[in-house]
Amino acid sequence: MSSPVSAIADLGVAALARAIAQGQFSSVEATQALLRGIEARRDLGAFLAVNPDFALAQARQADQRRVQGQAGPLNGVPLAHKDIFVTDFAASGLPTTAGSKMLAGYASPFDATVVTRLQQAGTVTLGKLNCDEFAMGSSNENSAFGPVRNPWNLQRVPGGSSGGSAAAVAARLIPAATGTDTGGSIRQPASFTGITGIKPTYGVCSRYGMVAFASSLDQAGPMARSAEDCALLLSAMGGFDERDATSAQRPAQDYAALLHAPRPGATAAQPLLGLRIGLPTEFFPAALSADVAAAVRGALAELHKLGATLVDVTLPRTELSIPVYYLIAPAEASSNLGRFDGVKFGHRAAQYGDLMDMYKKTRAEGFGPEVKRRIMIGTYVLSHGYYDAYYLQAQKLRRMIADDFQVCFQQCDIIAGPVAPTVAWKLGDKADDPVQNYLADIFTLPASLAGLPGMSVPAGFAASAEGAGMPVGLQLIGNYFEEGQLLHTAHALQQATDHHLRAPAVQPAPVSGGAAGEMSGQMSGQTSGQTSGQASGQVSA
Ligand code: GLN
Repeated sequence: MSSPVSAIADLGVAALARAIAQGQFSSVEATQALLRGIEARRDLGAFLAVNPDFALAQARQADQRRVQGQAGPLNGVPLAHKDIFVTDFAASGLPTTAGSKMLAGYASPFDATVVTRLQQAGTVTLGKLNCDEFAMGSSNENSAFGPVRNPWNLQRVPGGSSGGSAAAVAARLIPAATGTDTGGSIRQPASFTGITGIKPTYGVCSRYGMVAFASSLDQAGPMARSAEDCALLLSAMGGFDERDATSAQRPAQDYAALLHAPRPGATAAQPLLGLRIGLPTEFFPAALSADVAAAVRGALAELHKLGATLVDVTLPRTELSIPVYYLIAPAEASSNLGRFDGVKFGHRAAQYGDLMDMYKKTRAEGFGPEVKRRIMIGTYVLSHGYYDAYYLQAQKLRRMIADDFQVCFQQCDIIAGPVAPTVAWKLGDKADDPVQNYLADIFTLPASLAGLPGMSVPAGFAASAEGAGMPVGLQLIGNYFEEGQLLHTAHALQQATDHHLRAPAVQPAPVSGGAAGEMSGQMSGQTSGQTSGQASGQVSA
């Protein structure tokens, strides 16, 4: 063990919760240590807002609850939220931006359900994490507040749209973060940064208070360093919420308990005996990067050693999921983003003529290029005359893609393959070519369109010079509400491998400790700068 700061930073959710519960250190101490680490790694661009005063106040409450014997399962564990979840500004001092200039400094009057539930479980909110604007993107380069860097290689993207969440967890700034996944935004950044992330079945986590992108696809989920940590977080985040009309009417589940539940007939050496893992031919095309193929094959061989049977299956419409998703998601986005009109909330142009002019200038100024592109595509495919040709056709294909999965699930329990065709690319490499970004989503989109749970589990690292030692994720897709089985499988793999334990070599610069009061003063001052002038300027008192 090195210094206490890095010792705390190295702990995952389960270990931190245990250490705090046993009194090895307090939540306040853990919070202070992580705040120092966050401050030291502003180069990553992972955080959009940090409020040390709010974080320390929550940590003190957690420490009190422990003394009073009222501690929840995640009591005192610090984490942070993707800035797509609204956070009550009056309570937390944390603005909500969705990575957009349109919402710079927006003061939400309430917390998202996922945020509320994690706080009720005892977590401490450290701040808000950078993301692609309105969660549209695969590299985090679409954020209005600057890109996020991949802690494994600062010249590379962390993936997107939950890039800030992934980078912060991978760099050991926080043990876990929330993310959202509409077409891969939890799984792909998890894969690019070597962490574990799960997108549950559509409807498991409430969408209430998640800034909407494509409502029929948007799902929240945890991003952490292990399947066990994801299980703990998902148990707290999920469950029916009457405030979300598409919330699944199912009770919250204890996913952590399921991790250790033995499969019938399994042995200690072969915990996955009897599990059939389907490998879709279409997920292993010739064009798959050799680095990704090798790591994924390695993880599959490991799963086989653990008792699983590998079977060949087919998802014949995999390629079609790209045009289908890039019609449906923009269609829904164009409708959802209609609310940003300069009247109800967010940015309003300073100078305008009549009402129409105000709408136009506000939206021209507030939205970035990718968001505008999607609004235009979405409006086009929903317009009279094109609706049948594009939108309706896409909906029909979406149903067929979902049906293809059900055919597979007659032959296997879990589907496995790569998360993305390559490792994380260099910043700027695909920035001018939206289609290149879209194509890279090929393996995550099918499960999103079908509403199925999917996760990314660290599978290894690129061995080639081109791959530069970047992490590779294995994707596991389960049938509806089979999150427990996905997490169980990933946990078994993580008991037998150590890819998920590896940390990027770029470590936080050593920071000298200070008194809590001093540190909190420093942090607030520096953080408001980081939150950007615009943001803090526009928060109305
Ligand atoms: N990369 C996909 C997109 O740009 C998925 C984004 C997401 O899941 N939020 O739409």
